[in-house]
Amino acid sequence: MINLENISFDHCIKCTVCTIYCPVARNTHLFPGPKQSGPDAERLRIKNPRLVDASLKYCTNCKRCEIACPSNVKIADIIQDAKWKYTRVFWFRPRDFFMSRTDLAGSAATMFAPLVNFVVSLTIVKLLMEFFLRIPSARAFPTYNNGTFTSWFKKIRGHQGGFKNRVTYFHGCFVNYNKRSLGEDLVRVLNSMKIGVDVVREKCCGVPLIANGYLTRARKNARYNIASLSEQKKSNSGIIVTTSSSCAFALKHEYANLLGLDNSAIYSNTEYITKYLFDRFEDGNIPDMKPVHIRAAYHAPCHLERLGGVMYTIDILKRIPGLDLVILNSECCGIAGTYGFKKEYYKVSQDIGQHLFKLIDRANPEYVITDCETCAMQIEMNTQYQVIHPVTLLAMALK
Ligand code: SF4
Ligand code: SF4
Repeated sequence: MINLENISFDHCIKCTVCTIYCPVARNTHLFPGPKQSGPDAERLRIKNPRLVDASLKYCTNCKRCEIACPSNVKIADIIQDAKWKYTRVFWFRPRDFFMSRTDLAGSAATMFAPLVNFVVSLTIVKLLMEFFLRIPSARAFPTYNNGTFTSWFKKIRGHQGGFKNRVTYFHGCFVNYNKRSLGEDLVRVLNSMKIGVDVVREKCCGVPLIANGYLTRARKNARYNIASLSEQKKSNSGIIVTTSSSCAFALKHEYANLLGLDNSAIYSNTEYITKYLFDRFEDGNIPDMKPVHIRAAYHAPCHLERLGGVMYTIDILKRIPGLDLVILNSECCGIAGTYGFKKEYYKVSQDIGQHLFKLIDRANPEYVITDCETCAMQIEMNTQYQVIHPVTLLAMALK
């Protein structure tokens, strides 16, 4: 049956602008580009689903083609949909299973974080993972927290209840298992603005599940999150914030566009954090800040660009006193979530990022700033610079 939602391919005017902006097509001949794999091929696929091209799997779902398209064709959605609807997927995929079950892996790893971090850094373990799981040995892994963000939050939950104005924080897996300090920074920043934080039970937003074709599980997580977040909004300001641009994108767009779910209960009140902060700052609620005297280079993640949220991050950063900010020319970093962790895509992923790495080197900053956790992993692995989140920089600037 033809999904009328995806008839956006008919609006394609064949301008090929999307192909120019596609970072994958620019770096490998194995992917013909968004126009050919998206609207062009979709016409054929809906007539004959067997006409599927294996090159679809090279698309990273970065959405840069959709940003560029003047006709609002949902190119990346068309490709993702076709990739999992029409291609045959081998059921036994231990690597993809493990990498997409971030809650399972994270909750186990945070219990033994020092040991896990040590073991995965060993060369012999990296070589074994490359041989058995096809995870490139050159790939650096994120380290795990000693304890989760939610366990830390339980200790301060009572204090948050004292704030009349509170938001719900969708922390995501990365903050919960790998970067608890970012969640702590967010609480500090919001509390300094007299805003409290609520945390509800949540599951992985579903981005890695969607990327690896586990759509049934992704829908299950999405339904859980929609129910949990919409229930909480009855008891606070009703606003949901995230510090992950990809989580925000999933909650607002992927749930409806790729998973076909009704996310209207959370759509309009879910905001990536810098948009929320921008609105508060405009209302005059600006935290007391001291000069930071830091030179920093800002990299805008693809999904935040698609959300239309980059200008808010830049505005927030420009308000930090003493910050010498270099805004990098928008380029994809190449990692695309779990894509850069797979041996078959590793070279493409690294090649895509080269231009960005050179731009960062040329800027010679003390820190690189970005809103996306996997962009941060890719930049830290390929440059000598530490990468921090805009909220962390705000927390550093607090008086
Ligand atoms: S989503 Fe990204 S990788 Fe996929 S076709 Fe569009 S620009 Fe290319
Ligand atoms: S940018 Fe949009 S209209 Fe132009 S070729 Fe690509 S899909 Fe078609």
